[in-house]
Amino acid sequence: MGTDENILKHQLDHGIFDNAQFHGTEGIARKAIDEGISTLSPRQRSVLDPYLSNHCSGVTDPGGHHNGCSKGLKGEELLEAYLRSEDSEFLLCESCESDKGYHAHQWDRISRE
Ligand SMILES: [Zn+2]
Repeated sequence: MGTDENILKHQLDHGIFDNAQFHGTEGIARKAIDEGISTLSPRQRSVLDPYLSNHCSGVTDPGGHHNGCSKGLKGEELLEAYLRSEDSEFLLCESCESDKGYHAHQWDRISRE
C-alpha cells in the first residue's frame, strides 16, 4: 500500500468520510485502498484529492499566542501528522509538534510553581 492509500485507510478508520458531502466518497476510498489509487478514474480521483492534502493547525503557547502556522501537509508528512494526532481534525506539522511538546513541558512547570 502506498502513502496515499495509507492516508485514506487512516481517514476511513477514523470516520473522516462520515461527513463527506458526496456520500459515494467512502466507497471510492475503499476501492483506492483495496485496488490502489492508480485504478481510480480521473473523476473518482478528483473526489479524493481534497482528502490527500491538509494543513497544520498551528499551536498556541502558554501565553495564548498562536504561532500562525498553516503549513501544507501531504504525502508522508500528512500521514505522519495523522498518526501522531489523537484528533483527526487537528493536525500538526513536525515543527509545531515539537513546539507542542515544549509548551506541554512549560505548562507542567507553570502549574507546579
Ligand atoms: Zn505547523
